[in-house]
Amino acid sequence: MTIEKIIEGFLHFRQHVRPSLAPLFSRLADGQSPGVLLFACSDSRVVPNRIASSDPGDVFEVRTVGNLVAPATATGLSVGDLSEAAAVEYAVGVLGVRDVIVMGHSRCGAMKAALGSADALATAPNLASWLSHAAPARGKLRDVVFDPGLSDVDRLSQANVLAQLDHVATYPAVTSAVSRGELDLHGAWLDVATGDLYLHDAALRSFVLLDELEGKRRLDAFAAARADGG
Ligand SMILES: [Zn+2]
Repeated sequence: MTIEKIIEGFLHFRQHVRPSLAPLFSRLADGQSPGVLLFACSDSRVVPNRIASSDPGDVFEVRTVGNLVAPATATGLSVGDLSEAAAVEYAVGVLGVRDVIVMGHSRCGAMKAALGSADALATAPNLASWLSHAAPARGKLRDVVFDPGLSDVDRLSQANVLAQLDHVATYPAVTSAVSRGELDLHGAWLDVATGDLYLHDAALRSFVLLDELEGKRRLDAFAAARADGG
């Protein structure tokens, strides 16, 4: 996509989509109250709002290379980039989102780079440094039951979702909201070749395809847990 396509796309939106969203835009003008903080990869094939059919105001979104989140030290300060930390503090501590989702995806270039040789990143020192936050993903490989057909890159990508959820959980705003039962963390994984979404199931230690049956099972489980005050 070039700037020309962006302009053409906006003109289409302006004419055909914006009118139906006008009441929502107007209602949101004075403030937002999103339910979800989403960390997703910057990859252009990952389109969270498109696949979730979500609206303006629904998702507080952070896109980073490899959907990485620099963890916090014991004092709660980020060891790396402050932008994810600031998003966590604002979305969880101020906006009071109910769920945090880390969404990985198939054929992720960051995961390929993390698996490759350091030489390939010699001319990209910032990227090489950033990818150090993916290092704990290797340790998570043993915690996931993988689909046998999954490539090494995709296995690392799924393990990386769990590693980044661990990083999210290092922030005091997160630990305190989770301990109060006011916040849940979720792992998701998008297959960019098919548009299928998988949700991590802690009991199965696996990413499970979100089809109609699984979707209903998940929605019923969340409804029951939330009715219990969980
Ligand atoms: Zn990616």
